[in-house]
Amino acid sequence: MGDQLSGRAGIVTGGGSGIGRAAALKFASEGGQVVIADMDEAGSAATKALIDQYGGEAICVATDVAQADEVEALVARTVAAYGKLDFAFNNAGIAGDLVPLIDYSEELWDRVIGINLKGVWLCMKYQIRQMLAQADGDGGGGGGAIVNTASVMGLVSSATNPVAYSASKHGVIGLTKTAALGYAKDGIRVNAVCPGFIETPMVAGVFERHPERKAAVVAEHPIGRLGTPEEIAAAAVWLCTDAASFVNGTAMTVDGGYVAH
Ligand code: NAD
Repeated sequence: MGDQLSGRAGIVTGGGSGIGRAAALKFASEGGQVVIADMDEAGSAATKALIDQYGGEAICVATDVAQADEVEALVARTVAAYGKLDFAFNNAGIAGDLVPLIDYSEELWDRVIGINLKGVWLCMKYQIRQMLAQADGDGGGGGGAIVNTASVMGLVSSATNPVAYSASKHGVIGLTKTAALGYAKDGIRVNAVCPGFIETPMVAGVFERHPERKAAVVAEHPIGRLGTPEEIAAAAVWLCTDAASFVNGTAMTVDGGYVAH
């Protein structure tokens, strides 16, 4: 337990599983008031139960990040519960499938882009509006910190990578830079985290459908293993603390060296 986010309120999308769950726990363990936002209500409730166990503070708000009205309501619920919004981890995402570009369906393209890319834009749209509206006592906005989950697939790609996934994650990094530049003067920092392959239900699902890929994927990480959700959570939480007060507009790799070679 720490106190780096004591008295601060924030949102974690995709907080019902994997990286989002680990991050929600870490934000709460640093004293943050956490709104767990996920379509999977049972997953969110399980995350909240883990936070409750050590006396952390969290609520759940069922949200589809691809729906503007639901994202707007999520920010409103956060403010109703905790009075403000200090940080956000826009992390909800889906993988799509490993289908060659020429066979990829329009329906899957729209779904992946809708959640992974449009969802991050919608979250930032309503979060930044709220952060700008929060008075800080000297006439300016109240500031804030936002972290978006991109991926190493937002920096590089591969011939076999899910088509829309890599495009969406490259887009998340572009969106992150635009937001960081647009609101730096308002005290709002916006960064992206780029995980390598992490042991979560998302990746387990991909390896279930394509077991032949696992050894090769592990070998692509110079460190010799996949990452853990906690290793990404640590970076996301750090980026939201004052320890990262000069970090803005970056796409931070947490990937065991994946993009270094
Ligand atoms: P996960 O499947 O374990 O968790 C994703 C969560 O997002 C789930 O709880 C799911 O219900 C939620 N979600 C999906 N669509 C949603 C929507 N429309 N609205 C709200 N919630 C929604 O996956 P994860 O591995 O923890 O992935 C989290 C993020 O990390 C994703 O953006 C993913 O692309 C990214 N990422 C994962 C890896 C990895 O190897 N696991 C690597 C790089 C980036």
